[in-house]
Amino acid sequence: MLIKAKKILYGDRARKEYPFLEKEQDTLAIEVEHIDYCCPHMEDFSKRVSIEIGKDKKFWVRVDDDYPFSFDILFCPWCGEQVKIKIVKVVRLKKVEKEVTEKRTEYIEEEVS
Ligand SMILES: [Zn+2]
Repeated sequence: MLIKAKKILYGDRARKEYPFLEKEQDTLAIEVEHIDYCCPHMEDFSKRVSIEIGKDKKFWVRVDDDYPFSFDILFCPWCGEQVKIKIVKVVRLKKVEKEVTEKRTEYIEEEVS
């Protein structure tokens, strides 16, 4: 199974007053963009759980949002194929100032590669 993922860098959201916490080039999160499923069992299973990727590029599933229980998966338990994660896009959060009724700061994703 191949998971195509997007890496989100802190970018402008890095707190410059605390440079030891996070840097602009540090990873804030890795999100699933697209999954090429290995078999119908895995596809069916993934619809019933939350699929997430850790910053360590580990693939794991959250079974129940009310009672969080998660585990990482290296191989498909049905067909045995290895789970691979490929970063297909890197974005950094770009700061934008919006003035609607009051000034507020938002972060938009800016593609890096
Ligand atoms: Zn499978």
